Amino acid sequence: MADHFFPLKDRFEVAEGTMAFVFDTSSEPDFSFRAGQYVEVFIKNPPYIDERKDHRDFSITSSPGDKNILMVATRLTGSAFKRSLAEISLGTVCKVEGPFGDFNLHENKDKKAVFIAGGIGITPVRSIIKDATEQKLPHKITLIYSNRNPAGTPFLKDLENFENENPNFKLISKMTEETGQVDANFIKESLGDLSNTAFYIVGPPGMVQGMTKYLEELGVSRDDMRFEEFTGY
Ligand SMILES: Cc1cc2nc3c(=O)[nH]c(=O)nc-3n(C[C@H](O)[C@H](O)[C@H](O)COP(=O)(O)OP(=O)(O)OC[C@H]3O[C@@H](n4cnc5c(N)ncnc54)[C@H](O)[C@@H]3O)c2cc1C
Repeated sequence: MADHFFPLKDRFEVAEGTMAFVFDTSSEPDFSFRAGQYVEVFIKNPPYIDERKDHRDFSITSSPGDKNILMVATRLTGSAFKRSLAEISLGTVCKVEGPFGDFNLHENKDKKAVFIAGGIGITPVRSIIKDATEQKLPHKITLIYSNRNPAGTPFLKDLENFENENPNFKLISKMTEETGQVDANFIKESLGDLSNTAFYIVGPPGMVQGMTKYLEELGVSRDDMRFEEFTGY
């Protein structure tokens, strides 16, 4: 398992209550990952400590094309770990393990991809869509992205920009305060033809289970579903 030691280079808000953290990877020019993978971030001697461990899993939300940086993003829940991450000085070196996971875009360009994400579940999806846009991949990609309201929607502007740049990417943004939750009807009406499609569902376990049930109701086979569960939420 690869251990890396990267200084925290920057942090900024990407939505109300959600912050991005950027690590400088320039000390390891060969560090690489596939869009959609995650890392474990450790803080040595954190300023705040609780009974939980000193590290968290975070999906990488930058793309492999973003040179010399690795960006993650998280909801600031008030946990000791996250308060520490939000307060340690820029330049603090953190241990980063990974990359891990296989939540990556399929290779068959003739098969459509549909991502269903809510809130912070967007992190690996942003990486995959940014990568597909930068590499001009031919895959037809749709994202159903559910949030309470625009102010609380991480990376909304970036996704709108990817949609403008990438003729193969369609963003379906659902603001639940205004128009209700994503359900089977909404998925069917938004997508129409569900055949020849790989579905990617990402977010807290409850959300992943709920969306899986809707897809099953719509006749989608489990063989055509991939999951990334953010256990811990
Ligand atoms: C593959 C993967 C990718 C992920 N990617 C992201 C990401 O991109 N962004 C992101 O924000 N999160 C991501 N997560 C989730 C992340 O790792 C954290 O679990 C999550 O952010 C919650 O952390 P926290 O510090 O806010 O809460 P925690 O302090 O970890 O608490 C989380 C839950 O555990 C409960 N809990 C607290 N202490 C204990 C205890 N001692 N024993 C049992 N339960 C306890 C809490 O009540 C709470 O319900 C990912 C997880 C996985 C597995």
